[in-house]
Amino acid sequence: MYMDKYEFWFVVGSQFLYGPEVLDTVAQRAAEMAEKMNESGLLPCKVIYKVTAKTPEEISDVVKQANYEDKCAGIITWMHTFSPSKMWLNGLNDLQKPYCHFATQYNRDIPNEEIDMDFMNLNQAAHGDREHGFIAARLRMPRKVIMGYWQDERVLKELGKWMRSAVGAAFSKNLKVMRFGDNMRNVAVTEGDKIEVQRKLGWQVNTWPVGTLVEHINAVTEEQVDALYAEYCEKYELATDNIQAVRYQAKEEIAIKEMMDEEGCKAFANTFEDLYGMEQLPGLASQRLMEQGYGYGGEGDWKVSAMTAVIKAMTEGMSGGTAFMEDYTYNLEPGKEYSLGAHMLEVCPSVAAEKPKIEVHPLGIGGKGDPARLVFEGHAGSAVVVSLVDMGGRLRIICQDIECVKPILPMPNLPVARVMWRAMPDLCTGAKCWITAGGAHHTVLTYDADPEMLRDWARIMDIEFVHITKDTTPESLEQELFLNDLAWKLK
Ligand code: MN
Repeated sequence: MYMDKYEFWFVVGSQFLYGPEVLDTVAQRAAEMAEKMNESGLLPCKVIYKVTAKTPEEISDVVKQANYEDKCAGIITWMHTFSPSKMWLNGLNDLQKPYCHFATQYNRDIPNEEIDMDFMNLNQAAHGDREHGFIAARLRMPRKVIMGYWQDERVLKELGKWMRSAVGAAFSKNLKVMRFGDNMRNVAVTEGDKIEVQRKLGWQVNTWPVGTLVEHINAVTEEQVDALYAEYCEKYELATDNIQAVRYQAKEEIAIKEMMDEEGCKAFANTFEDLYGMEQLPGLASQRLMEQGYGYGGEGDWKVSAMTAVIKAMTEGMSGGTAFMEDYTYNLEPGKEYSLGAHMLEVCPSVAAEKPKIEVHPLGIGGKGDPARLVFEGHAGSAVVVSLVDMGGRLRIICQDIECVKPILPMPNLPVARVMWRAMPDLCTGAKCWITAGGAHHTVLTYDADPEMLRDWARIMDIEFVHITKDTTPESLEQELFLNDLAWKLK
């Protein structure tokens, strides 16, 4: 849906110095490269060869078109020959779309016999890409630099990942978030400056009355519930005889989806403190909506909800899964140090290792009926947890590498979905770093978006990015956070 909606423009730099024949060759080759890259099957979106730019006017023109073309999610530049970069200055200054400098070369190898000065003038990406790189550095432009032969799998995969980040940026700029109720009382980390978030990330975060949702819930027909209930029974294992509780969740799912779709919202947040007129906290309903690509945040956490939606959009078509997650409790046994993540109900089944079970259990908070929820274990594999926090005056993304494992205990009395993981570099150092950086208890856990994709997204959005890896030390992190703080105050 999203990957098909967007395309990337291939803009090739040159100049008139080497004559029209060279320019014809450059244009032909650029078109051929775009075609072959599209045929590779390694790029999620289409590359469209646009122009071999030789003048400041041509560059400004293509930038203006890119800025106003909704389909264009970014530009990819490449210097086949030498393209003097003062020509690019005005155009690049106006650019409002994500920008990738693709440092590559038409030929892979230097031909021993064929190489002479004509060959050198035609194939001088090493030269031209440096001139092009300088102007972007001089302008302090946020950009992605990819270097390597354009038919190499590694290179195309890197380009493909950047495309996903750029699509995530386009999605983000149009994202609307539906809030039911405010943030949970007295909680700090779920708060945030909605104006700053809209300015930087584009998110429109607004509230709708819980009463309106209740009207929608009550208007859902039995036929609608029958159809959705049948789908539940097919997709999940029904492990309860409280069918009414499950059917009520179907009503909630239909009603929330209806309201979001009417308003064009792709994410929502609610809180157990504001369920007036509802019979249950949405559990199964929220899980189902996340599975369909909507973002969700509990306790009014609209930031994590929107981040979940963004990451789901940028990883569209990938199969590892992305979920709203919460750090719950630790296993501190030496050699078996793990975090147990869960939520009181709402973990996305896209991360499930096997067919989820529908269960109904009492919920200690919220004062409502026993909610139906999907219960499952998350699958093993490398992943990251991601948190967006408001530092006051700026936004910070914290991303931590984790290794998910099959939970080491069956925990038969735990009535919620669970994922178990080891944080990098190890549980205690990793948690220390996370806490030092101010990371939230709510996160987006994703097996699909890797740190590079998220770093690229953060760069496009112009927000701080902190990455906790196997090599992070508390000392190096403290220093990085201190310097970041100074730098972002000056920015
Ligand atoms: Mn929570």
